[in-house]
Amino acid sequence: MQFDGVNEKSLVLVKPDAIQRGLIGQVVSRFERKGLKLVGMKMMGLDDEILTAHYSHLADKPFFPSLAKFMKSSPVIAMCWEGLEVVNAVRELCGITKAREAEAGSIRGDFAMSVSCNVVHASDSVENGEIEVGRFFEDDEIHSYKKSEYEHVYAEDEK
Ligand code: UDP
Ligand code: MG
Repeated sequence: MQFDGVNEKSLVLVKPDAIQRGLIGQVVSRFERKGLKLVGMKMMGLDDEILTAHYSHLADKPFFPSLAKFMKSSPVIAMCWEGLEVVNAVRELCGITKAREAEAGSIRGDFAMSVSCNVVHASDSVENGEIEVGRFFEDDEIHSYKKSEYEHVYAEDEK
């Protein structure tokens, strides 16, 4: 699987607050209208094993148990988005963690008020994008296809 150039990949989760609030379509739409390519998507319930790995950098924080409970409170939508420097582009679209201070126009800035219930997860580095896509998806769940809009989304020397 390739993770460079226009094939760079980011793992995005639509979190339980967004599922409950009926925001799936609007979240997906933000990434689509940016010109990113969706190469994997599924609804899945998360268990402690995957959450402990996914949030290993937060395992010793006092809020970890409530974060894990929140992330298990409903299924999530896991997505793999692809594009040139997509990890950074997706983080910009999502906005900062503390949603009530996130920039207006970003997903968190437009849809959320909480530090915890902040609508989306997005990979924070190219390396973590690769690791997280591998954690949430089997190889055959990531699809390779030609997206005709790339002709207009990217210049020749960016493809
Ligand atoms: N989180 C929380 N309380 C905090 C910090 C983070 O509940 O004080 C949750 C929140 O859902 C956040 C997730 O833990 O999105 C992962 O934290 P991280 O610092 O990696 O932020 P992100 O990369 O999601 O912006
Ligand atoms: Mg993070």
